[in-house]
Amino acid sequence: MRETGKQRIIVVDDDRAMRELLRRQLVQAGYDVVAYDDGRAALQLIAGLGSGIILADWSMPGMDGLELCRAVRELEALQTLRSVYFILLTAHGSKDHVIEGLGAGANDYLTKPYHSGELLARIHVGARFLRLQDELLQRTLEYHKANAQLAVLTQKLEKLANTDALTGLANRRRLFARLGETWELSTRRNYPLSCIMLDLDRFKGINDTHGHDAGDRVLCDAAEIVRSAAARPELCARFGGEEFVVLCPGAPAGEAVVLAETIRQAVAAHVAVYNGTQVGVTISCGVAERTAGMADADALLRQADTALYAAKERGRNRTYVLGCDGATRAAECGEPVGNAAQDGAVAHGTATHQAASCSTRAASSASTTPTTATPGTFGD
Ligand SMILES: [Mg+2]
Repeated sequence: MRETGKQRIIVVDDDRAMRELLRRQLVQAGYDVVAYDDGRAALQLIAGLGSGIILADWSMPGMDGLELCRAVRELEALQTLRSVYFILLTAHGSKDHVIEGLGAGANDYLTKPYHSGELLARIHVGARFLRLQDELLQRTLEYHKANAQLAVLTQKLEKLANTDALTGLANRRRLFARLGETWELSTRRNYPLSCIMLDLDRFKGINDTHGHDAGDRVLCDAAEIVRSAAARPELCARFGGEEFVVLCPGAPAGEAVVLAETIRQAVAAHVAVYNGTQVGVTISCGVAERTAGMADADALLRQADTALYAAKERGRNRTYVLGCDGATRAAECGEPVGNAAQDGAVAHGTATHQAASCSTRAASSASTTPTTATPGTFGD
């Protein structure tokens, strides 16, 4: 409503002499004045400006002052107009008229003949009112902008707090949160939930032979293979050191074995290149599925870790899956060691293992001593 720093006032009066008098006095007082003899023209201008002061007569042909005032308030309610300070200046001086005028939405009410000093004082009030509203709007916009920036920063911080800096996979903290969520859903809805624990074989040797930077390259390449293979990359995590975990909600152990084997074979076939040196690596995998007897999500991790331990014990670069009957048997994949049916191996998930071309073999609990699910268990 301001032009060249001056507050604009829209004067609306069908009396030409009154319009000119008001215009002269208000211009002398430093205001930018536009005068109309009709309420509709004034409404069109204020709609274009968005806010301002209107000084309007009540009785006019066409749209009178009261109708103009109501129309302005309706536009404000629709947020077409930001803010209008409306003063009725009329010959109607009864209390009933004042009440009706203010009831229509006028901010102020003056009667003709008016006192010029009083009129200017009341217009100053209106100008201050609009200025304060502008400041409030500005502060509100700044507040929303700061809030939006804070939300972006919070999102970035949250991502940093949940992401492994080297590989970009979820970190251990995020893994446990996801594990809790998937475990809760799985137990509540009785969906299968499997967990794959993967560990690069003899990783320390790579660091010792080629240096830690080459080791990091190998780790990142393996992480990318894990991420690419998984149906839900957000459920893959670097558990610690050279160890990864993939959660498979909705998948029985057999399906998780298929995924583990896909990853294992892809890692074995991949050659990382660092500074022109080719570095190959293999990975061992342990698979476990939630069973009704498991106490909590940590037990699932521990069982996957037990299966992984068995895979390491059996020579690495292979996948082991733990049976559902108490971690006493492991199904081995990755080397042709027999037929599941012939060996009478774990009934749970056997069909899927066969479909995945993974043979199974019973293994005693003694050879698959449970270990705690701690990163770097094997160190090899
Ligand atoms: Mg009139």
